[in-house]
Amino acid sequence: MVGSTHSLRGIGMTSARTRERLIERLSNHGISDPEVLDRIRNVPRHLFIDEALASRAYEDSSLPIGKGQTISQPFVVALMTQALIVRDGKRIQLEKVLEIGTGCGYQTAVLSSFVRRIFSIERHGGLAKSARARLNELGYHNIRFRHGDGMKGWPGQAPFDGILVAAAPAEIPQILLDQLAPGGRLVIPVGGSASQQLISITRTDSEFVREVLCDVSFVPMLGGTG
Ligand code: SAH
Repeated sequence: MVGSTHSLRGIGMTSARTRERLIERLSNHGISDPEVLDRIRNVPRHLFIDEALASRAYEDSSLPIGKGQTISQPFVVALMTQALIVRDGKRIQLEKVLEIGTGCGYQTAVLSSFVRRIFSIERHGGLAKSARARLNELGYHNIRFRHGDGMKGWPGQAPFDGILVAAAPAEIPQILLDQLAPGGRLVIPVGGSASQQLISITRTDSEFVREVLCDVSFVPMLGGTG
């Protein structure tokens, strides 16, 4: 017990410095919203990964979370969050957001304070279960979880004013566009393993406005459940 308390303290101490270094890096790379930076600073990323990797929690890199999946890179989490909630330079509070690819729940946690209700789908049963337990334990209470195939969206809760996808389909699923409310925005990586881009699509009254944000590298979006 004493040993584990010590190791946790150790992480706490290094993390204060390494977290600030991470924030500086993100802000140098275009994350300009102070609240988004604050979330990255305050969400304890070391509690979302295996203890053996905890010392690397505040590096700006993706890390394995088991079942061949990864926790997203902090820069990408920050960028996706910012893309979803900042419109015309102004941060907005979203009512309902659909997240596809809960993974370990880190992106869910970062997003949670900007959104009234999050609906998060994960196709892998084991990951869905542990993310739910972790986020409940950490006190996040505005999230509903589903073990299922996110390619279908969440028809019973649509429309959403934000949809954030953490796994890359070859093409943008029409179902997800259909589940966007007018004014809503979808942030999604698209493409195969050789080349993927992060795309933002905003639904206006009459059209879908598409913007390419940057090149990315996500795990593929798979159909069905695991
Ligand atoms: N945002 C996560 C990143 C998880 S990686 C985090 O911060 O940890 C992407 C996740 O998408 C994986 O857990 C994978 O199992 C899941 N996934 C892939 N295809 C999916 C689908 N069709 N529906 C739901 N989840 C899916």
